[in-house]
Amino acid sequence: MLIVIADNMEESVVSAIREIGEVKYKPENLEQTLEGADVLVIRSATKVTKELVEKTGTLKLVIRAGVGTDNIDKEACKEKGIEVRNTPGASANAVAELVLGVMISGLRNVQKAQWQMKNGKWDKKHLTGYEISGKTLGIIGYGRIGSMLAKKAQGLGMKIIASSPHPRITDDIVEYVDDFEEFLGMADVISLHVPALPQTIGMINKESIAKMKDSTYIINTSRGEIIDEGALYEACKDGKLLGAALDVYPSEPYSGRLLELDNVSFTPHIGAATKEAQNRIGEEVVKILKENLKQ
Ligand code: NAD
Repeated sequence: MLIVIADNMEESVVSAIREIGEVKYKPENLEQTLEGADVLVIRSATKVTKELVEKTGTLKLVIRAGVGTDNIDKEACKEKGIEVRNTPGASANAVAELVLGVMISGLRNVQKAQWQMKNGKWDKKHLTGYEISGKTLGIIGYGRIGSMLAKKAQGLGMKIIASSPHPRITDDIVEYVDDFEEFLGMADVISLHVPALPQTIGMINKESIAKMKDSTYIINTSRGEIIDEGALYEACKDGKLLGAALDVYPSEPYSGRLLELDNVSFTPHIGAATKEAQNRIGEEVVKILKENLKQ
């Protein structure tokens, strides 16, 4: 089995995959290297486009080591009989923990404080923040990550509401608020956990932000396109929103104008970047490859 790994992967995972078949890791010319390949393993960087898929002759399987498969033209793969798999559960805990981290950090001005002190300031009076206990966390997209976050946030004293279509997870933590406008007006912190779909792209825009409480804090670890960048910029700049924490961007690496704002914090798409999650992702990739070998 010839397995092409196109994106960065933990060395331990690459070694485990090498035990299953011949591996070509991060080839310079992906298109050429795919000739004769059985499996392509990617993360979020490589785009599996229709053009790329049409040029492959032997490829049987594309494995997305991670969750979002929006960088894969699934229709084109289907037409060519190429199976697409991902590792959906492996990164949920890591993403949920990042959300908690950036939420507390944002509400307590941790990053702002760090910049101040590094610049020789001791300006306590501008660093008074908010506690998360007693606040309402509004989760948009109550799936694997959303529900995992809910469990943790409830333990920290937050009330959990969600906006998510049927069929949906039922537990004793969440209160679903089906009227989206009502939902937006109830949350103190809104965390996004939806896939990028025609219905979700741009769902956080000027109109939806206007329906939010003043001083809402927004966290996006889902996909950058879910938020209208211009609307977020204006709302964070003019103080309608308390601020935002972003891990994902409309195009990555991100160098846009939100970077100008002090009340927006940034991480470079590291939601799943923990040793534990990468190990779990690796284990799932190996499992999928072994299943494939048996067929
Ligand atoms: P999931 O499929 O388990 O959950 C997504 C939920 O969104 C589902 O419950 C679905 O019903 C709901 N949904 C769909 N359309 C909706 C809509 N219009 N309004 C509200 N809810 C809607 O997915 P998941 O594993 O929880 O992942 C969620 C997101 O996180 C994905 O976009 C994924 O790409 C992203 N992600 C990011 C990172 C990172 O590194 N930042 C890592 C993993 C996943």
